[in-house]
Amino acid sequence: MGHMRGIRHVAAGAVLMTAGLVAGTLTPATAHPTARTADTARSAAGQVACADGSMARTRGPGAPDPNTYTPEEAERLDRELTLARLRLGSDAALRAPVTVPVAVHVIADEDGSGSVSDTRVKRQVSALERTYSGERGGADTGFRFRLAGVDVTRNDRWFNRPDRYERHMKRELREGGPETLNIYTADLGGELLGWATLPQRYRGAPEMDGVVVDHRSLPGGAFEGFDLGHTAVHEAGHWLALFHTFQNGCVPPGDRVSDTPYERIEAEGCPDGRDTCPAPGDDPVHNYMDYSKDACMTEFTEGQGERMQAAWAAYRADPAR
Ligand SMILES: [Zn+2]
Repeated sequence: MGHMRGIRHVAAGAVLMTAGLVAGTLTPATAHPTARTADTARSAAGQVACADGSMARTRGPGAPDPNTYTPEEAERLDRELTLARLRLGSDAALRAPVTVPVAVHVIADEDGSGSVSDTRVKRQVSALERTYSGERGGADTGFRFRLAGVDVTRNDRWFNRPDRYERHMKRELREGGPETLNIYTADLGGELLGWATLPQRYRGAPEMDGVVVDHRSLPGGAFEGFDLGHTAVHEAGHWLALFHTFQNGCVPPGDRVSDTPYERIEAEGCPDGRDTCPAPGDDPVHNYMDYSKDACMTEFTEGQGERMQAAWAAYRADPAR
């Protein structure tokens, strides 16, 4: 494990949302925290979120922090999803099956270490298929996935610092339009599992659209407890406009999905039956949008499926279709 540095990375342009910080108040210089700063701030804040419209999943525990995303951004996203629902007339129309093309970009070290085999890439796409179809439990979200292509790039800098070289890497490798799920695999440092861009950012920065995950999180990888490919499943949820189930803690509107019970803080491990909010319902620790271990994650809800379908219609579907 020559690249385990024991520090956490955040995406280029990322800031840490702490109680006293609001996105946009940081100067560009401080918007690129060192890993050490990020580590300290994350411990205090409990949650990594990114000012460039991306969200992350980590392996480490954290303290409560409802401010994982700016309320203004979330409100605007909700307004646009509502418009998409109105435009399409009914929820039934939004439930048409969608097959998402998946382009996987494997980044490896120059000696080839950290590469991901075609077999594991295929298993990752199968994991997306099984989870979004409800095969493991929960709702059938209506999404299916097909592998559109795999490429392997050997580049030390991209592999070891995908946060710093994100723009270079994506400019060179990204494929397709808003409908193509681009997944990049690299070394994210050991604690950070992945991050994703939210769909409304496609218009302004199409080249940055996609999901970055640690290569050890794909099925058969070296991250014990996080090796079933559910990191990419979780990040694809963000890519389709889902927030964490613990978004806003116990405070409305929570994650803006009506059938996921409120949850004060992220789950760690698999705390079955945990109930951290006064509102009805146990914490959704089995939801793919929580932070539980991979095996613990077994469901999306109907409401999440509907939100993702609305997001698809609003931001990712081919308007000519
Ligand atoms: Zn996340």
